[in-house]
Order: sequence, then C-alpha cells, then structure tokens
Amino acid sequence: APLTAAQRNLPNIIVTGTPGTGKTAHAEMLAERLQESSNGGEGQLKMRHVSVNNIVKDKECHEGWDDELGCWIVDDDKLLDAMEDDGVEQGGCIIDWHACELFPQRWIDLVVVLRVESSTLYDRLSARKYAEIKLQENLDTEIMDILLQEARDSYNEEIVVELRSDTPEEMETNVDRIFSWLEQWKKDHAP
Ligand code: ADP
Ligand code: MN
Repeated sequence: APLTAAQRNLPNIIVTGTPGTGKTAHAEMLAERLQESSNGGEGQLKMRHVSVNNIVKDKECHEGWDDELGCWIVDDDKLLDAMEDDGVEQGGCIIDWHACELFPQRWIDLVVVLRVESSTLYDRLSARKYAEIKLQENLDTEIMDILLQEARDSYNEEIVVELRSDTPEEMETNVDRIFSWLEQWKKDHAP
C-alpha cells in the first residue's frame, strides 16, 4: 500500500514555478543548509534535491525533444514510475520541477511556488539564451499565474505557499522559512 505522510520520517516538498524563477537555486541552497545543520548531529532533517529534469533525461521519461519549445516531451506515467523507483514516496525529497499537477497528492506535504517580476524573468531567461518563442511563453506563464493556479487546483490550499524570488535576500528568507517549516513538520510528526 502507498505510504502516507504519517508514515514518512521526512516530508516531501515541491519547489515549482516558471522556468527561471529560481527552483534549482532554492532546492540546492536548502539541501546544503540542511546538510550543514545536520553535520555531527543525527541528520534527521537531511533532504535531497530531486531534479525532475535530470530524471526525465537520465531515465528517458520522454517522447523526444520539442524543437520549437526547446524542452522534452515528458511521458508523465514513465516519470512517476521512475520517481517511485527512486523512492520519492519514502519522503525527504525537494522536488524541483516546473509542474506539480502530475504528482499524487499523498506524495506531497508542501508546495512552494516561486514568483518573479517580469523584467527580472526576462533577464534571467535571456541570459540562458532561450529562443524568443520559449522566452515569451514563459513570461506569459508567469504573468498569468499559471503555476500558482495549477498548485492551488492540485493540492489543499493550506499546503501551497507563494514566495517572491526577485533578489538573493528573498532567496535567503525563503530558504529560512522552508527550513523552519521542516523543523515544525518534524516536531508534529515525531513518533
Ligand atoms: P529555475 O530552476 O527555476 O529555472 P534557477 O534556479 O536556475 O531557476 O535560477 C535562474 C537564474 O536566476 C540563476 O542564475 C539563479 O542564480 C538566479 N536566481 C534564482 N533565484 C534568484 C533570486 N531570488 N535572486 C537572484 N537571482 C536568482
Ligand atoms: Mn532548474
């Protein structure tokens, strides 16, 4: 039978948002922060960064490359199977992906939706040399709150948190907040 949150030692977090909002930067900083804080201790709060992008590539959970949009055409079923094989259901994952509706609700304890101002997003995606069509599509996605809406439609509103990611200071504050949330989760779910 599938594990529920009550049976996990650690929660699962999704960090989602339009490409360029800072998902990977946040996931990496959080994982590092948790690693440092658990050094020498019991390591109870160690979470790993799960880059869904890498799983899609490495486990070939796709039907090829979309040339126009410059991204993989993801096979959701294959992806979920690969993540299950990877033990995501067991908890302790910081899931980094620009979508969230595909994951079973029972897997997820917190959904962080990162938001960024248009001109900042434009600069970040230009720096990545995104094609104009892909850049424009992502700007529209961000302006129209698509990922926030997807998160709210897919999960209980209480577990969905919208955070600004325009500046390094905001990233620090966000990571601190998620860290505190994790400590609280751990207390609430102590055996
Ligand atoms: P995503 O994984 O959502 O596509 P990244 O984490 O790769 O986004 O971030 C895109 C770029 O923006 C990176 O160069 C990253 O360092 C920078 N960045 C992300 N978040 C912030 C922030 N809050 N403040 C300043 N720069 C940021
Ligand atoms: Mn990323």
